[in-house]
Amino acid sequence: MNTNTKPKAKKKTKRVVIKVGSAVLTENNNIAKERMLNLVSMISGLRKTYDVILVTSGAVAAGYSTLKLDKSKQIGKKALAAAGQPILMTAYKKKFDIYDIDTAQILLTEDDFDSRKRTKMFQEIIDAHLTHDILPIVNENDITSTPEQQFGDNDQLSAVVAHATNADILVILSDIDGYFDKNPHEYQDAKIFKTMSKIPEQALLEESTANNSFATGGIVTKLKAANFLIKHGRKMLLCNGFDLSAAESFLLENKHTLGTLFGPENEIKKESK
Ligand code: ADP
Repeated sequence: MNTNTKPKAKKKTKRVVIKVGSAVLTENNNIAKERMLNLVSMISGLRKTYDVILVTSGAVAAGYSTLKLDKSKQIGKKALAAAGQPILMTAYKKKFDIYDIDTAQILLTEDDFDSRKRTKMFQEIIDAHLTHDILPIVNENDITSTPEQQFGDNDQLSAVVAHATNADILVILSDIDGYFDKNPHEYQDAKIFKTMSKIPEQALLEESTANNSFATGGIVTKLKAANFLIKHGRKMLLCNGFDLSAAESFLLENKHTLGTLFGPENEIKKESK
């Protein structure tokens, strides 16, 4: 008899996808270990109420800690991602082990969602993990994929994952408190939007404004992710990943303290009183 089979997990009523970007996960071309530990600790708490799926960036930066290749070149970036993926997963594993949480790695490309059959297969893999209390950790497989097969950023990938897995909400953890009327790193008087139910067309057409040399998205890809989810009747919270209190109070106490909540108007009204 196989005694190693993981028992089934207690059924959770809610599901959340957490996406963490390189701005939060990396520091001076290395993994920011303390911030990763804070994230892992938050996820451990969330798992009492939620099925949690983690979408993480950071592989290219992790690769750069051992291999100094030019990440602006296509092959350099792919080689760095390949070298960094096990470093990133080992760092996560060490931290999740502290909380006795088993993890699984899922590397995806846009192609994985190009038919109902493939999307269903992805859903079933995720469900198999969650049913057995395993935390799926998702990242874009940008190693052997061609540009046409790629999402290009984990913001949009996480939105597709949230929709495909029927998540109640996607939480994007970045280096800012939310979406502002202008870049808060350039304008001190930038004002944060508390909620948003429609993304202005123009904002979706802006150039990438990533704040960190390993980041690929900037605010535009976060807005595209939000736009996709709103159109599918789902919610997204963009909030700070350095200080996780906004994410925690929203998810665990139902309090919207900081962060921008995106979603269909009727949905966000309920949440942001
Ligand atoms: P991550 O690695 O977390 O995905 P990015 O650097 O890709 O982070 O994107 C977040 C950055 O987007 C912010 O640090 C900020 O510099 C930039 N940004 C540009 N315009 C805005 C805006 N209107 N509101 C918030 N952030 C903005």
